[in-house]
Amino acid sequence: MTIRKITTFPEEVLRQEAEPVEIFDEDLAKLIDDMVDTMREAPGVGLAAPQIGISKRIIVIEFGDEEDETVPNQLYVMINPEIIKESNDKVPGIEGCLSVPGVVGNVDRSLAVTVRGQNIHGKPVKIRAQGWLARIFQHEIDHINGVLYTDRAEEIWKPEQEDLDTI
Ligand code: ZN
Repeated sequence: MTIRKITTFPEEVLRQEAEPVEIFDEDLAKLIDDMVDTMREAPGVGLAAPQIGISKRIIVIEFGDEEDETVPNQLYVMINPEIIKESNDKVPGIEGCLSVPGVVGNVDRSLAVTVRGQNIHGKPVKIRAQGWLARIFQHEIDHINGVLYTDRAEEIWKPEQEDLDTI
């Protein structure tokens, strides 16, 4: 278990279309452990492999319920994730990113998404996410496609306090 260094804008790896994962082995499990540790240490609620300099289609998310703080955080690991369905309803929200430190921005995202991918053993998984969790999935899947939220934000500014969840 190792905390990896987080890559930041304008490092090239953040702009690459990441490679699909084809081998589900011990090395992949170790990489995912490191991603989870790095996300928790940052701290952030999500992390994509390019954010630690690895151009692979892997995301990790750890998030609870945005309205009910008694709901414990849940860890999601998705390999080769893709959005297969998204609601037409878009909602604005303020995002920050571990790879773009010091700023936040207002981004419109689909209110709900269905994401298909694989788990750590290569088995197919599907999840339907809403609200902030749906936003985190969209933000992380953007990362593996070389897209940063700042590309989509209507406005970017320096927050007075950095108390926002960063992804
Ligand atoms: Zn990010």
